[in-house]
Amino acid sequence: MTRHHHHHDLAHHHPTVHRTRLGQWAWTCTCGGASCRTARLTWHQVMVEALLHSMTIAP
Ligand SMILES: [Zn+2]
Repeated sequence: MTRHHHHHDLAHHHPTVHRTRLGQWAWTCTCGGASCRTARLTWHQVMVEALLHSMTIAP
């Protein structure tokens, strides 16, 4: 009776970078996080921000 269910994905973030209707870059995460308050960033800045977010451990 072994149970090896690897479903502890809640401890990680999965932000995705996308383009808004206004033509700006933004990222949203499955945890509800988003870069809606940091507009006018370049794609690179948004990407770095998303990466930093993905490295934080969810509570
Ligand atoms: Zn997140």
